[in-house]
Amino acid sequence: MNLILLGPPGAGKGTQAKVISDKRGLAQLSTGDMLRAAVAAGTDVGRKAKAIMDRGQLVPDQVVIEIIEQRIAKPDCRSGFILDGFPRTLAQAAALDALLEAHGKKLDVVIEIRVDDGVLIERIAGRFTCAKCGEGYHDRFKRPAREGVCDKCGATEFVRRADDNAETVKTRLIAYYRETAPLIGYYFAKGKLETVDGMASIDEVGRQIEEVLGRHA
Ligand code: AMP
Repeated sequence: MNLILLGPPGAGKGTQAKVISDKRGLAQLSTGDMLRAAVAAGTDVGRKAKAIMDRGQLVPDQVVIEIIEQRIAKPDCRSGFILDGFPRTLAQAAALDALLEAHGKKLDVVIEIRVDDGVLIERIAGRFTCAKCGEGYHDRFKRPAREGVCDKCGATEFVRRADDNAETVKTRLIAYYRETAPLIGYYFAKGKLETVDGMASIDEVGRQIEEVLGRHA
């Protein structure tokens, strides 16, 4: 099964992609994670992408399309994948259509995680993750059970994304509404769109997504 999670930054795409990926054995393809890995590794792509990402703008289509093209060809994508943060423009969506067709794959469903705009800045600006295992936390909504210690792996170092600050989030939201929100209409017209309530708890959103996937299996 191949699916896309669609929604603004802070909607919970990454959180839910991880849950579905663990539960269903699907590969989680996050272009944001791949770009951050490229930045950390100091590759050519990473060097070019860093300043753009730090400003909260979108990396050029061709860059992310190439990343996804290479990633989708890997063996772990054979049993299916979840796209998290891609496509983000109509040009990327068209490239994905062509790519899937060329690989004899099909898109099963696009799940829009719908949230009220008012909560996004607070949700994003409070995020941090364990530096060792990547478990996600939040200053207000999900603190570690023992202050300063990761619930999952016991590590004591945490990191915050450079672009998870109130100022950059505004630019990211503008990019979302200008470039990415039109994809909701694009996939609706193709009969692929399903919507879940992203204002519900993490577990409840997960349950709604499972219900959608059950209908598309
Ligand atoms: P994310 O982790 O999905 O919030 O992505 C972090 C940043 O990476 C974005 O603000 C963009 O600068 C860049 N990025 C990730 N995915 C894409 C994409 N599909 N198209 C363009 N830029 C992207």
